[in-house]
Amino acid sequence: MRIAVIGAGMAGVAAAQALAADGHEVTVFERRSSVAEESSFAPAGIAAAALAAPWRPAPGRLQAGKADDASRLHPTGAAFAVPGLLGKGDAAATGRRQERAQALLRLLSAGVARIDELTRALGLEFERGDGLLLVQPDAAQAAQAIAWLQALGETAEWADAARQRQLEPGRAIADDAPRAVWLPNARVGNPREWTQLLRAHALHLGARFLFQHTVQSIAADARPAVRFATADGRAGEAAFDAVVVCAALESARLLAPLGVALPWKPVHGYSVTVAQHVRESAPDSGPRAALLDVRTGVSINRLGARLRVAGGHEAVSVPSAPADPAAPPTTKQLQPLYDAVDGAFPGAANWQQAQVWQATRAVLADGLPAVGASGVPGIWLNVGHAQHGWALSQAGAGLLSRMMAGEPAPPEAGALAPQRLR
Ligand SMILES: Cc1cc2nc3c(=O)[nH]c(=O)nc-3n(C[C@H](O)[C@H](O)[C@H](O)COP(=O)(O)OP(=O)(O)OC[C@H]3O[C@@H](n4cnc5c(N)ncnc54)[C@H](O)[C@@H]3O)c2cc1C
Repeated sequence: MRIAVIGAGMAGVAAAQALAADGHEVTVFERRSSVAEESSFAPAGIAAAALAAPWRPAPGRLQAGKADDASRLHPTGAAFAVPGLLGKGDAAATGRRQERAQALLRLLSAGVARIDELTRALGLEFERGDGLLLVQPDAAQAAQAIAWLQALGETAEWADAARQRQLEPGRAIADDAPRAVWLPNARVGNPREWTQLLRAHALHLGARFLFQHTVQSIAADARPAVRFATADGRAGEAAFDAVVVCAALESARLLAPLGVALPWKPVHGYSVTVAQHVRESAPDSGPRAALLDVRTGVSINRLGARLRVAGGHEAVSVPSAPADPAAPPTTKQLQPLYDAVDGAFPGAANWQQAQVWQATRAVLADGLPAVGASGVPGIWLNVGHAQHGWALSQAGAGLLSRMMAGEPAPPEAGALAPQRLR
């Protein structure tokens, strides 16, 4: 088939690579000058099935509880819990949430497996590490999440202070520190570098990338057409057998005229990527892999000779998300990130060489992505990957590849069907 992919973030490039590998003739339209320029530019880079577990209490309980440092970073009270996956309600509502959480777990797990498989098969070399140390001092909440994961076959282990020191020797931690949770199957990496490598492979498979091509609209027809404008003022239209929309928040504007609704709950956040001080006397001063404090949602991870700290879960309204995307984050917004690094890895960060980034995650109302046929003939989706874009875009690409080939979809595909959002 001749397939157009709209958007060259993690999701679009993942779809392009998977569909080109299936032998399709793929053309990617991207308004920016290169891949991963928007929300895939500098996210934390954690891919972990275990993040589907209820590490935090439901938002209702959280708001009723005592305020902590975390409230500075997530005024919605949702921490990194995905909206709609946790919460209160009757037995039926609880059952539906359980199903969604399990679908998310299976999807993340498939995404991590695909990341591993592509890394191995294509010999991809990028800044990466394994394992996530998760801090949740509420032992009862952590025990509940561990039990949930173990019942579903996912590994999650308690780590006492000695084990935590062994895993992350550079971290400042007291002997009587509460137990943390070690997630060995988590992957940590540089998502932008990953996306660039995957694009190189898609090119090798024959995919075409049209940069500085903004898609203005999609015409639904026997063969859907993409209308675009280029940065140098040209306009054009091209017909395809199928169009895969991977344009994150912008997808809603493209799909609304076709009657496809994407009820976003966008969530804004930040990252700071900073050079690590190199000290021969303290070779382990920074993180080895990744550390995530679930109370604040702040993660710190290693990227080669740098470290990246990410956080912020601020609900924003559409379409002003955020109010002024060009405005740099304020010191007040970033301070919790600086404090987290200086507290956990004192002296590791060379703040003179820091790169600040902000972006808005495209989160759908129930927290799950929309992957599959849109309901409009020939129009497919791979969007709404929230804070799990690395793993979910890979899982989504794998599902699209099967569905577009007419193969039976796995059971979790039902939970992702775009029609559920109508
Ligand atoms: C602070 C923070 C931390 C995060 N941490 C993690 C993490 O640890 N792990 C993880 O997996 N995820 C994380 N995420 C989420 C992750 O960044 C996103 O899920 C992911 O980047 C989404 O990828 P995407 O391809 O859907 O969107 P994007 O990368 O935004 O790609 C969409 C693309 O579509 C293009 N586009 C839009 N409209 C048009 C148009 N009309 N025509 C042509 N092109 C168009 C855009 O230019 C863009 O390149 C984090 C996000 C934030 C903000």
